[in-house]
Amino acid sequence: MLNDEFFGFTEIYREKPFSTEDATVFQTLVRQVAIPLQSASFTQELKATNRKLQKLERLKSEFISIVSHELRTPLTAIKNAMDIILSGKAGDMTENIEKFVSMGKRNALRLSGIINDLLDISKIEAGKMDFKFELMDVKPVIEYVKTNLTEVAKEKGLQIVFTPSDENVEVYADSNRLEQVLTNLVSNAIKFTTEGNIEISTKVVNARELHYDQCFEEDIKKLQGNYLQVCVEDHGIGIERKDLNHVFDKFAQIENSLSRKVGGTGLGLPIARQLMEAHNGAIWCDSEINQGSKFYFVIPIANDKSNFMMIRKQLVQQARSNGTTVAVIKIKSTNDTIEKLLRENNLLNKTYMANSMIEKEGLMTTLSLILMDGDKPSAEFLHKKIDSVIEQNKDLYGKCDIMYSYEIEGDTHEKDSYSG
Ligand code: ADP
Repeated sequence: MLNDEFFGFTEIYREKPFSTEDATVFQTLVRQVAIPLQSASFTQELKATNRKLQKLERLKSEFISIVSHELRTPLTAIKNAMDIILSGKAGDMTENIEKFVSMGKRNALRLSGIINDLLDISKIEAGKMDFKFELMDVKPVIEYVKTNLTEVAKEKGLQIVFTPSDENVEVYADSNRLEQVLTNLVSNAIKFTTEGNIEISTKVVNARELHYDQCFEEDIKKLQGNYLQVCVEDHGIGIERKDLNHVFDKFAQIENSLSRKVGGTGLGLPIARQLMEAHNGAIWCDSEINQGSKFYFVIPIANDKSNFMMIRKQLVQQARSNGTTVAVIKIKSTNDTIEKLLRENNLLNKTYMANSMIEKEGLMTTLSLILMDGDKPSAEFLHKKIDSVIEQNKDLYGKCDIMYSYEIEGDTHEKDSYSG
């Protein structure tokens, strides 16, 4: 018996009668055996429940994605029809008709925003969000969002001010996704503010210097190195301290705020959080009720040695999400001649290892990106070596893009990209 429940029995047989001590020993033994058996059965139950939950989660994501697609197509047709009416191509209309069709269009656009949010969150949760990372300057994206939302802000008597940092740094990011995050933050700032400017600023910061509320510790403690920080500040209704982290939860809208009145899905910030995570960055906020809010996000600065590994991880993630298989080949950095280097570090073998790795893992038909770690001469040597293997086995390897990275005087440079 375990916890007053019958669990099982053990049969022990011998010709000689059992003594009381024997019985005690057997009882203890049986209990000792029962405990791990019980936890094993618990584990199995847990695994089965987990599998069920994962399946449900997948079904839910698929459901949202299918429904959203089905909604998007007719909605696009509605929007197009309204555009034609408003352009006057379908004939003259009275002021009243124009007013109502414009109202219809505004709501169709709103609905389309909600559907896009639902699609995004289901894609992110299913790990199917596509990213197009590239080296870029964030300033033009901020300027673009500012221009886009200036009219909306003006309607409420608000102004958007952008103060860029003096440093010219580049980040490795998806500009469309950045625009999406910024648009959400600035729209929220406009929504929840009645007077005062909306201020956007950028700054280069080290992860150790970041200021944040304790509730964001989990998100920020994993950061290291230098980042570009973007801050969107408003002087609106603010958020209570207990709700600071909560605003990043799915479908969360803070009670007693304008939220119900101004509408929204409560998906903008959770999407922004996931997008920032995919950029190896973070997003958080600081606020005081009735004083205003500051929303910050950070993205690792490219060409920064401390961020090199992270950026490479991003490349690998991107390659994987495109269905590409990635091989990472490591070579030790040294200034010696290639031959000496190869002999001393057994690099020739490693080259073969790279080949056999490709073959062993059955990558030959899918491989299209190889990242190489190490200094330039050895990276180039390896490059040539692999190139010739690929050349000899064209039918096996197909198209192969080799990106290689190497170190010069302690600096990390990325040189892309070789197509063979
Ligand atoms: P939505 O704005 O569509 O409701 P979000 O995820 O963007 O969804 O925001 C969630 C909630 O966080 C908002 O409903 C609001 O309660 C709160 N919030 C977001 N930004 C601000 C802000 N700048 N000032 C005050 N509250 C905010």
